[in-house]
Amino acid sequence: MSENKVALVTGGSRGIGRAIIEELAQTKNYSDIVFSDIACQGDDFEVCAKQMENEIGVDGVHIHGFKADASSFNDAQATIDFIMERFERLDVVVNNAGITRDNLLLRMSEEEFDSVININLKSVFNYTKAAIRPMIKQKGGTIVNIASVVGLIGNAGQANYSASKAGVIGFTKTMAKELASRNITVNAVAPGFIETPMTAKLNDNQREALQKNIPLSRLGKPEDIAKVVRFLSSADANYITGQVITVDGGMVM
Ligand code: NAD
Repeated sequence: MSENKVALVTGGSRGIGRAIIEELAQTKNYSDIVFSDIACQGDDFEVCAKQMENEIGVDGVHIHGFKADASSFNDAQATIDFIMERFERLDVVVNNAGITRDNLLLRMSEEEFDSVININLKSVFNYTKAAIRPMIKQKGGTIVNIASVVGLIGNAGQANYSASKAGVIGFTKTMAKELASRNITVNAVAPGFIETPMTAKLNDNQREALQKNIPLSRLGKPEDIAKVVRFLSSADANYITGQVITVDGGMVM
């Protein structure tokens, strides 16, 4: 039965974010799911949202797109204002927007470091800060942050990315402690290597080397992450907070 909930997924126009929207829609607990993104195909967010809504095709679930740079404090506030003005509630925020700009530290530019930290980590601060006011007023909510296994174990060539994701994990745990008394749960999902446009850049050799380190010997699918986000966003997970759930085919144990 529909509960008419409202969810926001940042960076939701494709990849893992898009799969999360699809999973949340299948629960039929949401009347409106908003994705914010810096870009969508063709850059007309209304068209992108309508197309996604038609493709997902769950009766009673409306998809909306909002153009926002997740690294911008003002854009994040504007996203939450849009949601509150339009739907007057916000139940779930999935902080999913992220990028990679890989390089060995010797060659990594300041711009490569800053952009990854701003888009992957500061964005989580931006959206969490903007979202908790309405959630506190509503007396509850759920936040799920998409981290990465490399935030736990590091990865050569990803000093910026692994630092940003380790930051997301620390932020998640602190928010879980700060917001528990407000009935807001905050958890993180740490994906391993997932087949998305982000990992499409890997060549065959890199892919083969990676697979050797994955006990289930395959890259994951966006749905593998989305199903865990769906669970963490649901009432079934209401006694879970401050956790990092690794979804990586057994890579990190
Ligand atoms: P993706 O590149 O397919 O999608 C990322 C989305 O974020 C895109 O829609 C992009 O437009 C959006 N985005 C980029 N910069 C933005 C900005 N400044 N503001 C708003 N949106 C922005 O990548 P994905 O693989 O789907 O990654 C989703 C999340 O999962 C990221 O946080 C990523 O770090 C994390 N992750 C992915 C993998 C993987 O193997 N694919 C592994 C671990 C973690």
